[in-house]
Amino acid sequence: MVSYPRVPGHELAGVIDAVGPEVPGEFALGTAVLVVPYTNCGECSACRKGRPNACRNNQTLGVQRDGGLAEEIVVPASKLLTSRRLSLREMVLVEPLSVGWHAARRGRAAAGETVVVFGCGMVDWARSLALPRQGRGSSPSMSLKRSSASGARRAQA
Ligand SMILES: [Zn+2]
Repeated sequence: MVSYPRVPGHELAGVIDAVGPEVPGEFALGTAVLVVPYTNCGECSACRKGRPNACRNNQTLGVQRDGGLAEEIVVPASKLLTSRRLSLREMVLVEPLSVGWHAARRGRAAAGETVVVFGCGMVDWARSLALPRQGRGSSPSMSLKRSSASGARRAQA
């Protein structure tokens, strides 16, 4: 799944430093962009079903390809998003917050149920915040690692 050596970083944003000849005008030099770190082939069964996020040939930046800690990376314009409101620091949070939101929704907890989220990383924290905002009840977070257990939080409803 992962080949080494690899430059990590799949949660990334940056500033456009160069563009190819067919890149849409909204991605001009100097534009701040959020990078979607996943690739999709467009041909596998998942892609054909309209689920590019589950592409069998995905090569995630920072996992199968060098990622955001590289000095420069080249990505297709189709994997860039711009924002008029988010700073670069906020753009970096979009990927983990989206994963947490998606995980909370896929969990299908009913309103009023208590859901235990194992882990206190960024995605787990986002999932804990998403549950009550989706009307799915409260969510204590738990970690099996002593060092990160002190960071456990209970999401505010
Ligand atoms: Zn595919």
